[in-house]
Amino acid sequence: ATPISVVAGTNNALKHGILIRESRAIELSPGIKVVAFDKTGTLTRGRFEVISVFGDEKTLYYAAIAEGGSEHPIAKAILERAREVYGEVPSAESYDSVPGMGVITQWNGLTIGVGNEKLIKGFEARINPEIENKANDSVGEGFTVVYVIVNNEVSGAIALGDSPRPEAPMVISELRRMNIIPMMLTGDNTEAAKVVAKKLGIDYVYSGLMPDEKAEVIKELRDKFGITVMVGDGVNDAVALKAADIGIAMGAGTDIAKSVGDVVLLDSDLTKILSFIKLSRKILSNIR
Ligand code: ADP
Ligand code: MG
Repeated sequence: ATPISVVAGTNNALKHGILIRESRAIELSPGIKVVAFDKTGTLTRGRFEVISVFGDEKTLYYAAIAEGGSEHPIAKAILERAREVYGEVPSAESYDSVPGMGVITQWNGLTIGVGNEKLIKGFEARINPEIENKANDSVGEGFTVVYVIVNNEVSGAIALGDSPRPEAPMVISELRRMNIIPMMLTGDNTEAAKVVAKKLGIDYVYSGLMPDEKAEVIKELRDKFGITVMVGDGVNDAVALKAADIGIAMGAGTDIAKSVGDVVLLDSDLTKILSFIKLSRKILSNIR
C-alpha cells in the first residue's frame, strides 16, 4: 500500500505544478547522480527565429511547404517567416518526418526535404561549396542550420536561433551544488550544443544524437554514474525518458513525452526540477 505521506506529498507537489505519476520517482530522488537535459525546448525556449536564408531564392518557400505538417519548433519558425514574406504557403501532397533528421514532402512533382547533414546524406544530395561555406559559418556562430533539399540538390540553407530559458543557469548551478552532474543530450549539431552548454555552465555535452542514441547514452550514464534523470519535451526524447530512472517531461512538451514521463512539470519552468527533488526528500523524511 502507498504510505499516506506519499499521497499527501504527491498532492502537495501537484499544488506546486508538478505531477508525479510514478511514486518510484520519489523513492529514487535522494540518490540522483546525473540530470541529463535535452536542449531544444527544454534548456532553451524552443522558440526559433529565422536568422538568415541563403542559396536559391525559393529556398524559404520550398522549406515552408515541406514544414507544413510538422510541429517542430524549427517548422514553426520557418512557416512564420514564410507567411510574412509570401502570405499563403501551399499544402503538400504528403508529409513525412524523420525524428532527429528532418521532414520530407512531395509537392508539385518535387521531393522536398528540410533537415540536417544526416538528411543530405540520406538523399545523397549535391551541395554547392558556397552554400556549404555559409552554412558552416553559421554553425560556427552557434546557430542551428537546416538544409533545404529539392530532388537531389541542396537548394539552400536556413540559420535559426533559439535562446536559453532565463532560469536555466541558476538551475544548473544549484544541481551542481547538490553534487548532481548536469549534462546535455541533443540532436542538434556540436557547435550549437557547445555554445548553449557554455552559456549555462554544462560540461558534459552529447550532440548529433538520434532518438535511440539518446536512450543509449542514458543507459551508459546509469551504468557509469548511477541514478540518472532525463528531462525532455520532444517526440525524439520519448525513448530516453523511458530509459532513464526518472523521466521528467516539460509541460509545453509533446503529448508523447508527457505520456511516458514519470514526472510531468505542468509548465516549463526548470526550477520545478529542483522543487521536485526537495519535495521528494521531504516526503521520504516524513515516512522515516
Ligand atoms: P533536440 O534534441 O535539440 O530537441 P531534435 O531531435 O528535435 O533536437 O532535432 C534534431 C535536429 O533534427 C534538428 O536540429 C534539425 O537539424 C533536425 N530536425 C528535426 N525536426 C526537423 C524539422 N521539422 N525540420 C527541419 N529539421 C528538423
Ligand atoms: Mg527538444
